[in-house]
Amino acid sequence: MRRKLAAGNWKMNGLAAALDELEAMSGAAGGAAEVLICPPATLVSQAVAAAGDIAIGGQDCHAKASGAHTGDISAEMLKDAGASYVILGHSERRTDHGETDEDVRNKTRAAWDAGLSAVVCVGESLAEREASNTLDIIAGQLAGSIPDGATGHNLVVAYEPIWAIGTGKVPTTDQIGEVHDFMRAKLERRFGEGVGRSVRLLYGGSVKPGNAGEIFAVSNVDGALVGGASLKADDFVPIIEALG
Ligand code: PGA
Repeated sequence: MRRKLAAGNWKMNGLAAALDELEAMSGAAGGAAEVLICPPATLVSQAVAAAGDIAIGGQDCHAKASGAHTGDISAEMLKDAGASYVILGHSERRTDHGETDEDVRNKTRAAWDAGLSAVVCVGESLAEREASNTLDIIAGQLAGSIPDGATGHNLVVAYEPIWAIGTGKVPTTDQIGEVHDFMRAKLERRFGEGVGRSVRLLYGGSVKPGNAGEIFAVSNVDGALVGGASLKADDFVPIIEALG
């Protein structure tokens, strides 16, 4: 019932030549799993043209629709460029730009107003995990970062432990399952069972072709948000294929 989703986050990587990789990935799209690539904003419209069945998304948007905000990009602009998704509240944005749960909530509302689906990211630091605070942190971020009005169409949630991003360290499948089951229960309680069950929950953090299969077998894991391994078709296509 929930269509699996392989989402790639290119972060601040990708010049025009990277569109060749996108074309190489496009053959793997259009199957059972949905495929999404979020390139840097400079490439969004070219990526849309090159992507075939791959959905294209932004990596951030401003909470306002337009105005005096030099350097920022609105959700409406992403939509106008052909994007259908936007990643919001990635831990790198929370750290590098001081984004709070409230900021993420306001950006998510803006994304919805523009007709984009939001991929809202949550995740604990290593210190928080070691202090056994993971579930409290996740509960707080879910409550604070997601506005009222979520549906299975406009919201995807990505669980990305900060200590697993770009490090090669991956939580155990039990640890991933614990958080994903917890998030599912929280979403069902807040938005009702129908909506809560239809929101896709992605795992992110050092997903590679070699570990994707066992991560995707965990309950309530509906796909992945992939950084480094989404840059090359040779890495990303096997991850898409692991989703079936
Ligand atoms: P990674 O990044 O796959 O390179 O660990 C994941 C992410 O930050 O979304």
